[in-house]
Amino acid sequence: MPHTKTLLLRHADLVVTMDLHRREIPDGAVFIRGGVIEAVGPTAELPDHADEVQDLRGRIVLPGLVNTHHHMYQSLTRVVPGAQDAELFGWLQTLYPLWGGLTPEMIRVSTLTAMSELILSGCTTSSDHLYLYPNGSRLDDSIEAASEIGMRFHACRGSMSVGRSAGGLPPDELVEDEDAILADSRRLIETWHDPARHAMLRIAVAPCSPFSVSTDLMRESARLARSYGVSMHTHLAENDNDVAYSRQRFGMTPAEYAESLGWVGHDVWHAHCVKLDAAGIALFARTGTGVAHCPCSNMRLASGIAPIPAMRAAGVPVGLGVDGSASNDGADLLGEARQAMLLARVGHGPAAMNARQALELATLGGARVLGRDDIGALTPGMSADLIAFRSDTLALSGAAVHDPVAALVFCAPEKVDLSLINGRWVVQDGTLQTVDLPRVVSHHNHLARQLAEAL
Ligand SMILES: [Zn+2]
Repeated sequence: MPHTKTLLLRHADLVVTMDLHRREIPDGAVFIRGGVIEAVGPTAELPDHADEVQDLRGRIVLPGLVNTHHHMYQSLTRVVPGAQDAELFGWLQTLYPLWGGLTPEMIRVSTLTAMSELILSGCTTSSDHLYLYPNGSRLDDSIEAASEIGMRFHACRGSMSVGRSAGGLPPDELVEDEDAILADSRRLIETWHDPARHAMLRIAVAPCSPFSVSTDLMRESARLARSYGVSMHTHLAENDNDVAYSRQRFGMTPAEYAESLGWVGHDVWHAHCVKLDAAGIALFARTGTGVAHCPCSNMRLASGIAPIPAMRAAGVPVGLGVDGSASNDGADLLGEARQAMLLARVGHGPAAMNARQALELATLGGARVLGRDDIGALTPGMSADLIAFRSDTLALSGAAVHDPVAALVFCAPEKVDLSLINGRWVVQDGTLQTVDLPRVVSHHNHLARQLAEAL
């Protein structure tokens, strides 16, 4: 039975715990029972046998990384020529008509593709924000993919309800009726949401953005989420145009607007917040409102440099997000930690963020933003989500010998050698165990072509 089987991973070159003391244990070991970590320490101090024992010599072990913002369906529309060089609003307007052709099969296969890419880059828990449902698509299509590949998943029921004719950005045919949105959110929570510790699947309520849903839907979504105790997610203060829209339409900054709707608190996280002002940072810190920082996307769309050091100094929970694959266009979470460090330095100086702080955003930070205290660190009682990188690769050559932890962030991003999610091997020897990756890629390419040709 997977729930009682014991697994001993030992003789790792280094186990990076992300515990309270940020211990990094040479010749480290982790003892796991079922899906939960039972002990972490030097190999010599841990039990010497288990149902399964693996020797991790030559490997660096870390907690699985946490991705707090994504739109996985966009993997089908990466690098679309017309959207390569636009800022947010123009980029969206180019892509909306293409996304109108999405089918349930496309949602499932693009989610599998995005999750494969994320998992190989070290991610073990991801959220996804799906906010359009054409041609019978449902959030259940993403949920099916997560369960197939074995990834810990926070599925966000996104929504758009204000089309172009009503002053919103999306075309009218892509928006939904607000009662239908709320009813489907209720159905999804009642069908799928697991509030228990070590849950593999949670649902969040997630209107797309202030420029694509009504004030009423924002309020009603918050009320519904809180009646079930589920988290809330949206996009906020992404760039200057986003702030200008908020001022013009609502007479408020994005942070003021969020507060006026009840969209602040420990159960809320906002994507981007590139243009969050000082009052907004103080509000988020005071209320424990989380931020999903997406550095690659912010650079790709020329949105700006998010004030992450100021947020961290104020105590705002900050995690990392790769964002949708049409604005990154690579779902590499370890690479995202690297970009977070580099972009913070461009914006705020060389001491703005170091490698370990970047890894902290990718692990503990992400866990906090998603409202979880059972992932993000390797300590007894935590979920058995961990990753291992080989230290003898070309990319880490001449680096890991000095500082293997910093090397993972400074050097070209590595793929994982091993990934364990909920006590189950999802990657061994650098190969996904749960899906046939070449088949997924070929199917995904076929669907991407079909989607482009349908327009
Ligand atoms: Zn996004």
